[in-house]
Amino acid sequence: MTPRMLIASALFSTTSRFISIFLMHRQSMVNQLKAAALVLIISACATKADSKPAPASPNAASSAAVSSGNTPSASTDANSAQNTSTGPGGFHLSAEDSKRVPNELGHIPVLEYHLIVDKDATYSRDRDHFKRDLEFVYNKGYRPVTISQILDRKINLPRGLSPVVFVFDDASPSQFRYIEKNGQLEIDPTSGVGIWLAFRKTHPDWANAAVFCMLPGAAAGHNFFGNRGIEGQKDEWRFKKVQFLHDQGFELCNHTLWHAQLNKYSDAVVQEQIARGQLAIDSAVPGFKVRTFALPLGVWPKNRALAKSGSWTDPKTHQVTRYNNEAILEVSGGPTRSPYDPAFNPLSITRIEMIGNQAEQILNNMDKNGTRYVSDGDPSKVAKPSAAPTDK
Ligand SMILES: [Zn+2]
Repeated sequence: MTPRMLIASALFSTTSRFISIFLMHRQSMVNQLKAAALVLIISACATKADSKPAPASPNAASSAAVSSGNTPSASTDANSAQNTSTGPGGFHLSAEDSKRVPNELGHIPVLEYHLIVDKDATYSRDRDHFKRDLEFVYNKGYRPVTISQILDRKINLPRGLSPVVFVFDDASPSQFRYIEKNGQLEIDPTSGVGIWLAFRKTHPDWANAAVFCMLPGAAAGHNFFGNRGIEGQKDEWRFKKVQFLHDQGFELCNHTLWHAQLNKYSDAVVQEQIARGQLAIDSAVPGFKVRTFALPLGVWPKNRALAKSGSWTDPKTHQVTRYNNEAILEVSGGPTRSPYDPAFNPLSITRIEMIGNQAEQILNNMDKNGTRYVSDGDPSKVAKPSAAPTDK
């Protein structure tokens, strides 16, 4: 990088970090001023601040009792009421689930979360509300799948159940926080992953199939779920968290390096943002093929094609990183199309922002209008409704 490029890069960083923090956290003015001050400090060493974190030691990655919350226990299923039955693959089906008419051309809700905290706001979900969301979609006959499963048309659910995608954006500690107890790491039960795993314990047919669209180099702890002591999170836990998610079956998704609003930047910066996001995931989980990319703030780059594919050459090592995203997530737009729908466009997967009770209303409307994807339990056939109504 030339000195001019370094200055330009620092300026981009400053502006973008501020905008990113401002948009992601609409807190009090005091907090915003604090964030702005932090931005100024960080931007002084912008090219260092967003560099790849150091890998966690393999021993540290395997020693902690982090997987304790992830073994489903069949005997504690809260839903084993009289009117439920166990279908293929151990799935629980309520009487209502069993009656549902298959429609594999129907729509799939892709739910979008940001912070999991103690209040509801545009970019945060109260953790009790998040628990209620899980119960709500479960009881409505939805089970989680990843974006990759949709791309591969591997929605392996029994007849009567429907797929739902949970996506967590921005890699905040509130989504995945560790607590250190006597040298052991435990997943904070009040963090998003903690709540998810506890739910899975009581609902064994709830797969670890959420999608984490991560940032490896943003400010305010949005750096592979927390760094620099923010919310008690240590730098060396970052890779461990990403590895844990991958090991447990969750999908890793790229959300750029530090949440740059892509329409504001040159083609070169757009490609650097996406390539370095991917590179950081590869550093945590070597060889992992990133397939899904979430547009920061839902904003496309001026050169739209660069959201899908491009490349970046590291100025220091001259190493070339290429990316080729198969799925691109929008920020809103309602339930997304079935992969069997001829109009399905994986490069524009619409989502439902988890704000207030809008997801609940949308899901209720999908039932009312008959536009919901419902599995037929037969992977060799695509169940088509007699008439295809639309909710879009
Ligand atoms: Zn985001």
